[in-house]
Amino acid sequence: MFELPNLPYELNALEPFIDAQTMEIHHGKHHAAYVKKLNEALEAKKDLQSKSIEEILQSLDSLPEEVRTKVRNNGGGHYNHSFFWPLMKQNGGGEPAGDLAQAINDAFGNFADFKIKFSEAAANHFGSGWAWLTFEDGKLTISTTPNQDSPVMRGIKPILGLDVWEHAYYLKYQNKRPDYINAWWNVVNWEQAEENYANAK
Ligand code: MN
Repeated sequence: MFELPNLPYELNALEPFIDAQTMEIHHGKHHAAYVKKLNEALEAKKDLQSKSIEEILQSLDSLPEEVRTKVRNNGGGHYNHSFFWPLMKQNGGGEPAGDLAQAINDAFGNFADFKIKFSEAAANHFGSGWAWLTFEDGKLTISTTPNQDSPVMRGIKPILGLDVWEHAYYLKYQNKRPDYINAWWNVVNWEQAEENYANAK
């Protein structure tokens, strides 16, 4: 059965950019609920319980219809949040280094332009969902997904992801999603993103 991973930092580690109460509810309630409901959906599906979450999400079409939507929403929620937490850290921010920095320059011109394009995609995504940086067809690409859909459902491992559900920011930022996005850049863990890029290649 799947388990809620611990946060790799304290609840208040991302203050003042992301507040402790938001982190407590986001991780301890929202992510925990995705894990619980995913396990409930898989309870009677013994053959699926031994698979990794990536394997399950990559073959949604082959799942029994009665659990497919539950697994898509809650399995996607579990995968996306497990991916998201380590992408932030205390005293994060700045810019990536090494291969990822070079790839961003190649794809978007420079880091500042990448940041603008990613922020726009995240801000303009209608309703709940995620903004992503992925490596596909040999290049870096910015995209968004609705709800808890994930690039991993297309077999693509993401490099960077940003949760733009209201539960990720509403307590501190209310309706001002762009303010949350601007603040988030200050906590990005670029070492983790560089590792994700190395794995994606
Ligand atoms: Mn979330």
